[in-house]
Amino acid sequence: MTPLHIETPLLESRTLSRAANRTVWLKMEALQPPGSFKIRGIGHACSHYVRRGARRLISSSGGNAGIAVAYAGRQLQVPVLVVVPETTTERAIDLIRQQGADVQVHGASWQEANELALSMVTDSDAFLHPFDDPLLWQGHGSMIDEVARRGRKPELVILSVGGGGLLCGVLEGLHRNGWSDVPVMAVETSGADSFARSVEAGERIELPAISSIATSLGARRVCEQAFDWTHRHPIRSLVVPDQAAVRACLRFMDDHRVVVEPACGAALAAIYDHADRLEACASVLVIVCGGVTASVAQLQQWATQV
Ligand SMILES: *Cc1c(COP(=O)(O)O)cnc(C)c1O
Repeated sequence: MTPLHIETPLLESRTLSRAANRTVWLKMEALQPPGSFKIRGIGHACSHYVRRGARRLISSSGGNAGIAVAYAGRQLQVPVLVVVPETTTERAIDLIRQQGADVQVHGASWQEANELALSMVTDSDAFLHPFDDPLLWQGHGSMIDEVARRGRKPELVILSVGGGGLLCGVLEGLHRNGWSDVPVMAVETSGADSFARSVEAGERIELPAISSIATSLGARRVCEQAFDWTHRHPIRSLVVPDQAAVRACLRFMDDHRVVVEPACGAALAAIYDHADRLEACASVLVIVCGGVTASVAQLQQWATQV
């Protein structure tokens, strides 16, 4: 079965290399058809469930995961229902509907939308979690398979962390390609730093609330597997302010002519603002995870606000 994601470009960035004073490689997940890396894992999981007989796909994500499920359903010719909370932007709802999926708006927060979505799942449906599913991690790992096939072993991988699905996928990819010695830098925005705080506390904590504009990083608690990896792999944690994430998005637009969300800007801010934290690593790979829920106008407005 052909995968639903595409092989993305691996670019050596002169501008970012100069900004960080070392070689910076970019894995351009922003160029996936639904706009983020999520289609790798979600596409893999949806294909699996449909092969196993699922006749409908259900998601409760008003963000890139919901958009990826809608895209996957369209490709697989299976109906999709996405239940989203009232806080979901018109833009996100429109992007999900553009893929032909049904959108139901319910509840003040994701918790309530998710409860309704789960209550609607029947025996012939598959429910897609946005980050906590081994099928997702297996699928996300394909981005590292592609880098390995190109023979570009980095000395550090930089990525963003929300619920930790991307982190688990990249780690799985590194290990299955014999790159278990490559450290990872996990970046979050302040106010969505559930991973950093768990590392600090030595146990998986739950944030009382999310107070960052990087909504795609807004998981109050990371998945268990993401935290478990901290005992098995060198993972450094970095937290950047919203302002740095937004600034990085705008700078990246000029440098690479690609629009990404602050969730992705967080990882880019590690290059633009924190080269000192990259130590002696001569080559770093940044996962440009993408994201389509922020428009250019919104990014510019945030830049003047925060
Ligand atoms: C989902 C998402 C993340 C975070 O991924 P997790 O698997 O939840 O850690 C980061 N950036 C973008 C653009 C996303 O859509």
